[in-house]
Amino acid sequence: NQLSAKAIRNRFLEFFQSKQHHIVPSAPIVVKNDPTLMFTNAGMNQFKDYFLGNQKSPWPRVADTQKCLRVSGKHNDLEEVGVDTYHHTMFEMLGNWSFGDYFKKEAIEWSWELLTKELQIPIDRLYVTIFEGDKKENLPKDEEAYNEWKKWIAEDRILLGNKKDNFWEMGDTGPCGPCTEIHVDTRPDQERALVDGKTFVNADNPQVIEIWNNVFIQFNRLKNGSLESLPAKHVDTGMGFERLVRVLQGKTSNYDTDVFSGTIQKVEELTGRKYNAAATPDSGQNWGEAVAFRVNADHIRAISFTIADGQLPSNTGAGYVIRRILRRAVRYYYTNLNYNQPLLYQLVPVLADQFADVFPELKQQEQFVAKVIREEEDAFLRTLEKGLKRIEDIISHTKQTISGSDAFELYDTYGFPFDLTRLIASERGLTIDEVGFNAEMQQQKQRSRAASAVDTGDWIIVNEGGSSEFVGYDSLDTKSSVL
Ligand code: ATP
Ligand code: MG
Ligand code: MG
Ligand code: MG
Repeated sequence: NQLSAKAIRNRFLEFFQSKQHHIVPSAPIVVKNDPTLMFTNAGMNQFKDYFLGNQKSPWPRVADTQKCLRVSGKHNDLEEVGVDTYHHTMFEMLGNWSFGDYFKKEAIEWSWELLTKELQIPIDRLYVTIFEGDKKENLPKDEEAYNEWKKWIAEDRILLGNKKDNFWEMGDTGPCGPCTEIHVDTRPDQERALVDGKTFVNADNPQVIEIWNNVFIQFNRLKNGSLESLPAKHVDTGMGFERLVRVLQGKTSNYDTDVFSGTIQKVEELTGRKYNAAATPDSGQNWGEAVAFRVNADHIRAISFTIADGQLPSNTGAGYVIRRILRRAVRYYYTNLNYNQPLLYQLVPVLADQFADVFPELKQQEQFVAKVIREEEDAFLRTLEKGLKRIEDIISHTKQTISGSDAFELYDTYGFPFDLTRLIASERGLTIDEVGFNAEMQQQKQRSRAASAVDTGDWIIVNEGGSSEFVGYDSLDTKSSVL
């Protein structure tokens, strides 16, 4: 009797509601008024001002599911996506917060209660980590968290973690503090028995995955790098929804859950191929196909939800991030699934229906979103084939490193984002000259700045009723011969 993804999301929210949390909606995935952040990358982003003490939260406790995107800046998981089974571009982060209210004791007790009692994850599959301290930064070990965990879990399952993993920072500046993470061992019983005695965290085995991070916000990092203590202490937690669903549905991959089965099925239908979840890097062509399925099922979510939140693909800033993701997906279906017409836009209705109750903004703008995506796919498909031929030429005369000017030609004439060229190069064991590419790019920018001084921006206005209106593409778009 397996819980559906939808039921699992509700169980999380209901649990924290029963602990007097106010349930709030997800903030948009696109961040408009923060120079330090292009996209929401964690549940806490929308509460930043509460943590900094600039504003007071109307509720001392809140919980939600937040649309997040990790493809740029401090958190960039793009290269993992589709290759592993648990990093996505866009994902839902389930979270509960205390704004100067409860602290470590309750946070730890409730995460334990939810996972082991309410959702019944076996105790012997769980590990937790706590911050070991950092002498250089004068940060102490998190003894408080350790002592709280000791009440619930055997001490040999409480592992020490370093600053990189167990000290959370939103960006270069801002609220931060030690964190404690919960990892789940999803290996089959048989396999676990074989390695009994060894303590695993996810660095050791891809089937042992981090699912939940409980951050205890006690500090604010200033521009000069130093830390100041915050006047009130807060709890900020984030649990990967798709990973939780995978654990509770007993799968070995996020893509085998009902979060992704709808879009994967649709890609199967359109391409006439079958998704082989068991393919490994050694299985040759099957592997490339499997990655392509996962990339497309993943990327369409990032693309659709960002457009629905008002960010159109464009040639600069956040818009270019979306364009890069979209072109990466197109290259995968074109090359690995042998599909040479627009595909992604046909997945939009599946997503719109799947998320109609939790993120209705997509259903409300379904046709608009599909139209934007289709136009992007059309534009890129027009030059993709020629670009792929050109890159073969380039590869044939390249020994080790693709030059900056070759990479720039692919960008400028064929619409290949730098990281797409890098991906293709790495598939062939080649590297690419990023410094040279950036220099070419700088020159191009100077030329186009001289040609046109206007920058009209790339926002759309989303009306109340959900219909959308173009304000206009970024004027820099015209510089690219792809469009
Ligand atoms: P990981 O070590 O797996 O990259 P993280 O430590 O970077 O995760 P956090 O910043 O602690 O992640 O975010 C809180 C939770 O969000 C994680 O415990 C994980 O469950 C989930 N999460 C983080 N990144 C992703 C992603 N790219 N795709 C899906 N879930 C994610
Ligand atoms: Mg990460
Ligand atoms: Mg981690
Ligand atoms: Mg983490």
